[in-house]
Amino acid sequence: MSCSILIIPKNPNYLCSVQELQSTYTSIDSRLFSREKAIAMQNPTEVIFNGSLATQLGLTHLAEHPHRAAILSGQRPWGNSIPFAQAYAGHQFGHFTNLGDGRALLLGEWVTPQADRFDIQLKGSGPTRYSRRGDGLATLQAMLREYIISESMHGLGIPTSRSLSVVRTGLPVYRESEMQGAVLARVAKSHIRVGTFEYVAQLEDLELLRTFTHYTIERHYPDCLKNEHPVQAFLQSVVAAQASLVCEWMRVGFIHGVMNTDNMSVAGETIDYGPCAFMNGFDFGTVFSSIDTQGRYAFGRQAPIAQWNLAVLASALLPLLDQDHDKAVKLAQECINSFVPLYESLYENMMRRKLGIPKPIEGDLIIIDELTRWMQSTQADYTQTFWALESKSQRDHDLYFTAEFEKIARDLSELKRLHNIDEQESLEIMLAANPRFIPRNRWVEDALQAAQLCDYEPLHKILDAAKQPYLKLSHLPELYSLPEDQSNYRTFCGT
Ligand code: AMP
Ligand code: MG
Repeated sequence: MSCSILIIPKNPNYLCSVQELQSTYTSIDSRLFSREKAIAMQNPTEVIFNGSLATQLGLTHLAEHPHRAAILSGQRPWGNSIPFAQAYAGHQFGHFTNLGDGRALLLGEWVTPQADRFDIQLKGSGPTRYSRRGDGLATLQAMLREYIISESMHGLGIPTSRSLSVVRTGLPVYRESEMQGAVLARVAKSHIRVGTFEYVAQLEDLELLRTFTHYTIERHYPDCLKNEHPVQAFLQSVVAAQASLVCEWMRVGFIHGVMNTDNMSVAGETIDYGPCAFMNGFDFGTVFSSIDTQGRYAFGRQAPIAQWNLAVLASALLPLLDQDHDKAVKLAQECINSFVPLYESLYENMMRRKLGIPKPIEGDLIIIDELTRWMQSTQADYTQTFWALESKSQRDHDLYFTAEFEKIARDLSELKRLHNIDEQESLEIMLAANPRFIPRNRWVEDALQAAQLCDYEPLHKILDAAKQPYLKLSHLPELYSLPEDQSNYRTFCGT
């Protein structure tokens, strides 16, 4: 590809002072965004600020700023930045729609002292030209929920957008009832989605598609530019990143809930936390979203849906893959088909690690299959089942004393002995793959209820556990036990 109009400076001091944001995105094309302002708020007040994230990003001035809450709710400008909403499209539950940030503002790009570039975005900051019939607002509960879940994902070592702050707007938000409004400030490698490519492709401006694709490759997969076929290499890289991301979700029982193409980041991060949740009892059919009545985005469907979304990305890229349409389709098809074997091998390795098997051995897939069938038939707790396999002392449920489970545990031990797998090494692999803490719905809901009444202690307890989810913190024993049955639990979208 020849075009190179965008030179992304690596040195943060190159264009502007250290605490200023950059805005390379707005120099691509005016059709990609709309300049917008946040809705006016009388007295925005901070609920939570992520000091450790601010430190990690080198946002020292912001951390110490006396008007931090006003900046992080869009009431005061962040330096010279001019906020904008991004345009995009997307397949929502399989249907194409033109969208865009209907309740978010991108303040700009922060380049860290290590030269890493991140978008800083406000969510819940008021209507934009893309709001359609929405009010542009978000509830305190939904924004704190995104804060908790995204920070938990980060603690678990899973690529994700991060949460910098939540600020109460003081504005009412009308949902099932009147609720408190809030703005979340989030940080992501970018907010370029599969749906952004769909939006650009439907404009039928080949030069723009080329420029936009080049920008994305340069920003997220710069090594692909060295490849003889950069666009093909880019598509293959996104396929690999998504396969790996979804596999990580499956490792911890995370269900995204709305895997529309507009909610899939091409950088391979988990973004747009809506009706997502962590599964308790194992069931491939688990759905928490109240609007996913068909189970399109159920736990066990996340990999095929990711592949479906990637096929949409590939379609958008067709004109750049080859001038000959048939050849382009063939190349796209090859990339998309590679998802299945890649994902399967990642998944098998992931399950091996959960079982403490360091490398493929004969018979391992049989045990993985037996265990999966057993969990599906008994709906045993996904997280605690692996603790029960680590040691007998962690078997604290009747299910783990059934003949079926004991046989699986015995077969696994036998297999490891047969292959001379060191017990201590095996245990360490299990401890690194199987979290002690996941933000179960019950704990999250309790913390959100309390936060509404300005009691933030439960929220901070969850966030403490979420920082070190592979350890059991002795002062928070309640967060590692099982909540009572939550089989009817539902999370609501668009809140
Ligand atoms: P989501 O499913 O949350 O990713 O949102 C899908 C689309 O709806 C995006 O374009 C959002 O910006 C938009 N949207 C969601 N909630 C609202 C709202 N309350 N007001 C305006 N737009 C919204
Ligand atoms: Mg979204």
